[in-house]
Amino acid sequence: MRTLLRNLLSAPLTEALPPAERVAVTALAARVQAGALARLGRSLSIREVDAGSCNGCELEIHALNNPFYDVERFGLRFVASPRHADVLLVTGPVTHNMREALERTYTATPAPKWVVAVGDCAAGCGVFEGSYACVGAVSNVLPVDLLIRGCPPTPVDLLRGLLHLLDGGQRTS
Ligand code: SF4
Repeated sequence: MRTLLRNLLSAPLTEALPPAERVAVTALAARVQAGALARLGRSLSIREVDAGSCNGCELEIHALNNPFYDVERFGLRFVASPRHADVLLVTGPVTHNMREALERTYTATPAPKWVVAVGDCAAGCGVFEGSYACVGAVSNVLPVDLLIRGCPPTPVDLLRGLLHLLDGGQRTS
């Protein structure tokens, strides 16, 4: 009973975002929400595909959804199926092992859709350039609508990229 009371009355353990970061993320995420509403008439749905990354880019993408950044409160949703997605966020150089899965995910995503290559590896192989295991950049396999560079790009970079898409990026039909 004492433990229950203590847990109910104590503050959350999650650290607060640094004030400058909180302001930037809140403003950008609100603009993405407004952009999605204006462009799609609803929330933006995102399917993330790791095509062979080191997982550094995934950590930053996942951070968008953690209690620290919590962009879901602005209607940005990561979906489990490409059939429900507006955007494919693709990370990593595309490996031979993941090429078919990436192509099938793209085919399963309803048109019109956007493909975003996230990170230096997705943009041009990055540190994996020349590897026998890689097909190459995401653009070698799929039509890419936007590159978000960085190793890895930060959550703020990711939000800026999504905003750019909604502000005028054409979708692949
Ligand atoms: S861009 Fe950097 S963090 Fe992202 S997959 Fe490549 S090496 Fe990893």
